Amino acid sequence: MELKKCIDGYREQIIRVRRDLHRIPEPAFKEKMTSKTVADFLENLDLPVERGIAKYGVVSLLKCKTPGKTLMIRSDMDALNITEETDLPFASIHKGAMHACGHDGHMAMVLGAAMVLKDLRNMLKGNIKFVFQPAEEGPGGAKPMIEAGVMENPKVDYAVGCHLWPALPEGAFGVKAGNLMAAMDHFEVKIIGKGGHGAMPHLCVDALEVGSQVINALQRVVSRQMSPLNPAVVTVGSFHAGTTYNVIPGEAVLTGTTRTFDRKVWHSWPERLEKIIKGVCDSMGAQYLLNYTQGYPPTVNDEALSAVVRNCAMKVSGPEMVLEPEPTMGGEDMAFYLDRSQGCFFFLGVGRQNSAPLHNSKFDFDEQMLLKGVEAYCRIALELLNCQISNPVKKH
Ligand SMILES: [Zn+2]
Ligand SMILES: [Zn+2]
Repeated sequence: MELKKCIDGYREQIIRVRRDLHRIPEPAFKEKMTSKTVADFLENLDLPVERGIAKYGVVSLLKCKTPGKTLMIRSDMDALNITEETDLPFASIHKGAMHACGHDGHMAMVLGAAMVLKDLRNMLKGNIKFVFQPAEEGPGGAKPMIEAGVMENPKVDYAVGCHLWPALPEGAFGVKAGNLMAAMDHFEVKIIGKGGHGAMPHLCVDALEVGSQVINALQRVVSRQMSPLNPAVVTVGSFHAGTTYNVIPGEAVLTGTTRTFDRKVWHSWPERLEKIIKGVCDSMGAQYLLNYTQGYPPTVNDEALSAVVRNCAMKVSGPEMVLEPEPTMGGEDMAFYLDRSQGCFFFLGVGRQNSAPLHNSKFDFDEQMLLKGVEAYCRIALELLNCQISNPVKKH
């Protein structure tokens, strides 16, 4: 109860900073004002702040009473290229940009946790690293943050992060051990044929037609090569060719994404795709250029740490409000941290009747939910870094 009271004392500041951040959304690797707002906020708390990591990343380290393990609490910072249509008094003032994925809320929750945990530092041992990373929506800020050393000095033992989740009811937590989100890559294929007159196909290599065959054949990777018990996706999301009705296009470009939880399949995608693209193009006399980019690994939660998060979430919202979410084929670059330490990425429900989904121009949530997120972070810290408990989570 004391903790809830302590958090309640910061209610206005948490909501105010969320609104300040919501007003100035900046897309991936352009989070200049956002980064400054976050860093200034932490500096006002007299916490040490490192700015400019992986362009706009911010890290702040809270050293507790005695030495011990290090817990990372992570937020993303970037917005989306969406024009906001919420009519909120604190709606985006940046044309064509919007916090439609709740990252403004994520930042406010971690800043709220920083305020509260600073007050509680004498009850804790070890360190808490507050990490704010750019570009979660792609191309990905976690990897360059790690390369810049955020998981070291002191070495991170536990990593947690939370995503606001409209698919769960308001105030509920979604906690799941094991596979939560998929590995996510993207690719571009350029097909090079030979353009010419629409009436003389025999003198051309029709890149549009070859492209259609490639798209068809790519669908066979999942339907014929993958185990039906092992979820996988190949999506071609764009296909551009041609300019007018009576010209056979000499070039076609298609782009797509792959998803899987299975690391073996993940590493096999480029070869599998290329084999098919090459086969189709060879048989039709076309050339191709494949640009395959590996994105985020699968997001896999540690068993023991998920149990800690689940227990803490139950204390916040009650056992009946802690659910096990279905895994999603969406991707998250939190995965990079979870590959390097024990960790858990969890969801906080903000779903109401008729609430807009993530990445929607009308997305909004009840800010009171942010206090639940703050409380969850604080309880996780109290549990993992408690002076009384020597080693709450065993490495396995
Ligand atoms: Zn998003
Ligand atoms: Zn997001």
